[in-house]
Amino acid sequence: MDQIKIFLDEKDMPRQWYNLAADLPTPMLPPLTLDGKPLEPAMLEAVFPKNLIEQEMSTKRWIDIPDAIRQVLYQWRPSPLRRAVNLERFLKTPAKIYYKDESISPSGSHKTNTAVAQAWYNKQFGIKRITTETGAGQWGTALAYACHMFGLECKVFMVRVSFEQKPLRKIMMNLWDANCVGSPSMETAAGRAILKEMPDTPGSLGIAISEAIEQAVSDKSGKTRYALGSVLNHVLLHQTIIGLEAQKQFKKVGIKNPDVVIGCAGGGSNFAGIAFPFTREKINGAKIDIIPVESAACPKMTQGRFAYDHGDVARMTPLLPMHTLGHMFIPPAIHAGGLRYHGMAPLVSQAIVEGLMRPRAVDQLHSYEAAILWARTEGFVIAPETSNAVAAVIAEAKKARLEGKEKVILFNLSGHGLLDLSGYDKYLGGKLESSKVPREEIKKSLARIQVAHRAVARKTGKW
Ligand SMILES: *Cc1c(COP(=O)(O)O)cnc(C)c1O
Repeated sequence: MDQIKIFLDEKDMPRQWYNLAADLPTPMLPPLTLDGKPLEPAMLEAVFPKNLIEQEMSTKRWIDIPDAIRQVLYQWRPSPLRRAVNLERFLKTPAKIYYKDESISPSGSHKTNTAVAQAWYNKQFGIKRITTETGAGQWGTALAYACHMFGLECKVFMVRVSFEQKPLRKIMMNLWDANCVGSPSMETAAGRAILKEMPDTPGSLGIAISEAIEQAVSDKSGKTRYALGSVLNHVLLHQTIIGLEAQKQFKKVGIKNPDVVIGCAGGGSNFAGIAFPFTREKINGAKIDIIPVESAACPKMTQGRFAYDHGDVARMTPLLPMHTLGHMFIPPAIHAGGLRYHGMAPLVSQAIVEGLMRPRAVDQLHSYEAAILWARTEGFVIAPETSNAVAAVIAEAKKARLEGKEKVILFNLSGHGLLDLSGYDKYLGGKLESSKVPREEIKKSLARIQVAHRAVARKTGKW
């Protein structure tokens, strides 16, 4: 019988994170200030604690995971590597479909991996309170849990459409003693300005980020900092434990490398987490197809531009070199709230420019179809974000059937959907709509990206 759950002992959990910045064949472009100068680390000190800024800038290949962080991660890690044999059978594919199950963390997604690390580094630096934004609520709950573990206060600005669609997430945050408000809110200057202009806005991650940063930097005591759940280098770094565990688990069943690695991508963190350790193998010669999957409602990788852009609407963040739809882009109110971010992580963006990854976009109707097939074969109810990855997995498994190839497909099951049942209900009732954005709207948003500082797409041409 084929083994369908591969576990690692606690003692085998990785003791270091992997930093792709050390191995990218063409170095990353630096973040820039508004006037086009490379960003000085000191400029970030009002926003992030110094220890995390150092990590953000680091090009060291391996970075130790502090003991205190590992102790909290042991609560659910190492996460199992599972095999989706029922789905394989249903699809009559010769492919083997493996996945890392990140849905088993206390908050129900991969986000807890970086939340725990960030809360601990803030605590070490003497910070008392962390502000943040959240889309679907996954990041807010993860940070609420992590802050509670280390005795920090937590304030969450939740994108309004999700705040209204997903009230259960807020209860979970309250359970871990965090404070959560809908964004745009009346609590910040950025929120008030947007509400005046667009009182009915569904909100966006870009707006919520502006609010959270404003509240962090305006605390006169200096004891508040801001935390981001995706996009930044240090966040992606903390997620690499996923792919590093998968490598050890594959070794246990005699698989050297998968042929295909897939992850859904909002800001890029869970995808990077599973994909970066394998991207290193690819840079060193392995043949691996690495696929980040975005929502067709927010297609920055497949239809956006590689450009210097802000991470938020109020332009409080530095300019980051990334695939973007423009920081003013407000995507339709799809259920996969975590995929509604206008930009892609700079590390992932540079790897795409280099040709190491092949992005793909999935329509909401296809992702829900995939999620339901998953529930009816594998049993588990997955997050709407994750379903985008599963749609791509199914497409790859069907392709393997046509080619008659016994491929190994690996994907990241980023979270469960037990608090997202309303989207399933709509799909089953035939009320869910396609999430494609008209090309005209994308063009309009792209035209608003400032071109004063051009991001040159540099690559070796090897891939
Ligand atoms: C937030 C979230 C995502 C998208 O964010 P990334 O940073 O791209 O990983 C995907 N899946 C789940 C379950 C999430 O909570």
